[in-house]
Amino acid sequence: MRYQTILDTVRAEVSPLVGCGRVADYIPALATVDPSRFGMALATADGTVYGVGDWQTSLSIQSISKVFSLAMALSGDDEEIWRRVGREPSGSPFNALQQLENDRGVPRNPFVNAGALVVVDHVLALTGDPTGAVLDLLRTEADNPAIDVDRQLAKSEAGNRHRNAALAHLLADYGALTHPVDVVLDQYTDLCAIAMSCRDLARAAGFLARHGLRADGSRLLSRSTAKRLNATMLTCGTYDSAGEFAYRVGLPAKSGVGGGILAVVPNRCTVAVWSPGLDESGNSCAGRAALDAFTTLTGWSVF
Ligand code: GLN
Repeated sequence: MRYQTILDTVRAEVSPLVGCGRVADYIPALATVDPSRFGMALATADGTVYGVGDWQTSLSIQSISKVFSLAMALSGDDEEIWRRVGREPSGSPFNALQQLENDRGVPRNPFVNAGALVVVDHVLALTGDPTGAVLDLLRTEADNPAIDVDRQLAKSEAGNRHRNAALAHLLADYGALTHPVDVVLDQYTDLCAIAMSCRDLARAAGFLARHGLRADGSRLLSRSTAKRLNATMLTCGTYDSAGEFAYRVGLPAKSGVGGGILAVVPNRCTVAVWSPGLDESGNSCAGRAALDAFTTLTGWSVF
């Protein structure tokens, strides 16, 4: 089946679900996003992109940025980050405080907020500017120099980030941060506020479908590290419903509370989908349904 036909079929199948769930409102600027949006893009491993609906409209990538921060950490020194962060599914909300306290300052995985804060701290030491490093990667891989932080959104989140600040202070109390709490929080908030389209997201993540190779053929991650990053997405990338997501979709994926989900079909393609209404776990409701329909239609789950 042609890629465009696949996307058109998926869209037709999920269109009754667009608007389901609730738009995230704990970040005020996200609460104003139109819930009837739906976009989906597929980038083949050679970089050709197909899309449907609002696939060229910017969305707030939020926690999807955690994939790219982790890629920067792993490209810098490979295994070092795993001394500071676990890689088990959390089974708890992404911003849970209790779990971090119970685990004595070692976040359960790099995709819960506490884990991402430690990853950002690590990339600060490696690059001095995690947001700049991730933006460079995204712009080059997507071939779009306009990708940037949405400053208004970053400001909106920064004014309401009490829970993330609590996590960062708890980490600092355990000696788990090497940079000042506010520096780490500012970088984390900016990374979450990066705005880009499904088209750009699908293209920028191509290295995950190409076993670590960037668009120009140079190596970002070793083959083994790329495999492991995909494994971590599968087990931890969709909050505390990663089990249900694997059951329904069967692909490595990372979601964000902006309603985006990035999924990888190793060796073949990357898919980015966006629809702002979220289910109880914080995953895009229509987005998850679209990926479910996608793997059912194509048979391209990893199982
Ligand atoms: N910026 C959001 C937060 O820290 C990201 C959460 C998410 O997408 N899961 O709460």
